[in-house]
Amino acid sequence: MNVVDCPICQKRFLLGRSSMLWFGNTDHGPRALVECANGHQLIEDYRSGQTMVAQGPVEQIPARPTSQTQPC
Ligand SMILES: [Zn+2]
Repeated sequence: MNVVDCPICQKRFLLGRSSMLWFGNTDHGPRALVECANGHQLIEDYRSGQTMVAQGPVEQIPARPTSQTQPC
């Protein structure tokens, strides 16, 4: 469970698991791609605590699923 502030709706939503489209570690730190109840795609940046509107293609976030973390 997660809570997101949608800058477009200017509302706070409680998100279920199905609203979490992607999450993982990026070069910018841990990030999640989530969808608000009105279908806006948002990027949550856990390092800065900011929520950004996802601009353009989702490929902005490198596809690096957490399930495939490799030992250092
Ligand atoms: Zn929204």
